[in-house]
Amino acid sequence: MERITSVLIAGGGVAGMATALSLVNRGVKCTVVEPIVETEMSLVDKVGETIPPSSASILLRAGIDHLLADPAHLPCYGNHFVWGSSIPYEKSFFGQIHPHGWHLDRPFFEKQLRNHAISRGVEWLSAHRVAHLEKRSNGWRVSLKDSENATNAVLCNFLVDATGRHSRIARMLGGQRTRVDALVGISAMLTTTDDISLPHYTFIEATPDGWWYAAPLSGHRLSMVFMTDADLVDKRMLETAYFLKAAQAPDTFIGSLLKGKISCNNAETTLRPASTSLLGERTGDSWLAVGDAAYSFDPISSYGLMSALEGGYYAGHAIADTLSGSTDAILAYEVIISQAFQVYLKMHSHQYATEQRWREMPFWKRRGQYSLTS
Ligand SMILES: Cc1cc2nc3c(=O)[nH]c(=O)nc-3n(C[C@H](O)[C@H](O)[C@H](O)COP(=O)(O)OP(=O)(O)OC[C@H]3O[C@@H](n4cnc5c(N)ncnc54)[C@H](O)[C@@H]3O)c2cc1C
Repeated sequence: MERITSVLIAGGGVAGMATALSLVNRGVKCTVVEPIVETEMSLVDKVGETIPPSSASILLRAGIDHLLADPAHLPCYGNHFVWGSSIPYEKSFFGQIHPHGWHLDRPFFEKQLRNHAISRGVEWLSAHRVAHLEKRSNGWRVSLKDSENATNAVLCNFLVDATGRHSRIARMLGGQRTRVDALVGISAMLTTTDDISLPHYTFIEATPDGWWYAAPLSGHRLSMVFMTDADLVDKRMLETAYFLKAAQAPDTFIGSLLKGKISCNNAETTLRPASTSLLGERTGDSWLAVGDAAYSFDPISSYGLMSALEGGYYAGHAIADTLSGSTDAILAYEVIISQAFQVYLKMHSHQYATEQRWREMPFWKRRGQYSLTS
């Protein structure tokens, strides 16, 4: 039997859930389809946990600010940089309208979002993925596959691609992504010893072949990532022991801070794409893309999650308006997200232009096209 819903959202990450919440808040029935089953959720360590103070506004508008009061999430009071010179400096969030950002427990946050959305009436279909699309005059017939490859179908009026940087739905419709660079992140969730109390800051340090970031999380955990280009990856970094040693290199600020204070606690290193990339067409007839599926950011921006939340909020409103007869709501959504991407590109090139020490090294040379703009 075919299930019927108004809006089918492919992808139950932050962007998909933000879209779903925005829709149910407007009284629109929606169903989220997510391949990962709930019990696996905590095992899937989606990386990316730092959100800036400016996220407070979208969290409030989306009605989910209370989720961050849980002690699983830590306040983040600013950034410690070694960038542009070997002298560390600090950029505190003190004085901003909201005085701190957050270091999220990412799997827990996604679980909170999901439970909140379900309590608000969102239908959640885990262990299913969108496998095939058929356009109908009044929407879509979407074939889903479950974990045993059994197929069932959903009829919907509108379809949302919230499948992350692979843009699986848009690709099924013939869409393509443009990649600005080939950035990847090698990450590991480390454990800190009891005798180190790191300030609630994000640590960011440029090196000749890329840059590190370290984010202290609740429960003595430390999310550490080395960012470089795919072709520059030192394969040894994929071995946990080598990664751990590199993370404590005495000639880096972060390394000297962490020396002897971190362990891997069976954690594995993971290599993930982290490029700035953009889907060619982000909206179309009865569909749109949101979050990383529309475009993805270099983690230096700490903007991916906020963009997913904001994009989802506006996407939900645009779809609700469209289903009520508006003919320009999707265009307005496209304008909003395109402008946000342009703002990001400016911030991104400015950030890289402030590091000039290794202009001849491939990683930085490739970014040398960026010029400082005020
Ligand atoms: C190394 C690294 C570090 C980062 N650090 C930060 C940071 O500090 N701060 C920050 O804000 N951002 C950071 N990001 C970016 C951030 O993680 C992403 O922007 C964010 O995950 C985007 O959320 P999303 O919901 O759009 O996509 P995702 O979180 O990727 O969710 C997409 C979902 O779609 C599902 N899916 C896939 N295929 C299908 C299908 N066929 N049908 C149905 N569902 C499907 C997936 O299972 C997944 O759950 C980082 C990214 C990387 C790679």
